[in-house]
Amino acid sequence: MLCGAAGADFLCYVTPAEHIRLPNIEDVKEGVIASKIAAHAADIAKGVKGAIDLDNEMARRRKALDWNGQIALSLNPDKVRQWRAEVPPTESHVCSMCGEFCAIKTVEEALKKR
Ligand code: SF4
Repeated sequence: MLCGAAGADFLCYVTPAEHIRLPNIEDVKEGVIASKIAAHAADIAKGVKGAIDLDNEMARRRKALDWNGQIALSLNPDKVRQWRAEVPPTESHVCSMCGEFCAIKTVEEALKKR
């Protein structure tokens, strides 16, 4: 990210298998995604116009508990969909981390009562 923010035109990537074994296709995919995240962070750090828009839209969809929207905006929709399916929430509109105690849901409900 620092190199990108300092003006590097190309960011190399490393895979999770670096110095362990020859990377497989999934390792390469993960390395490229990590590199894209670093490049995106660099664009934000440099103040590239519109770079933050994706993050703001993700934040709006997160606040709305819009899971399909979040998946669509993510850099690896297949993985997010897989994670969500692996540990399904007890209530469909929250996630399995906090479940019924979802802070976003709780705040929304509290604000509606006002
Ligand atoms: S359940 Fe917890 S982690 Fe999941 S969306 Fe709600 S606040 Fe976030």
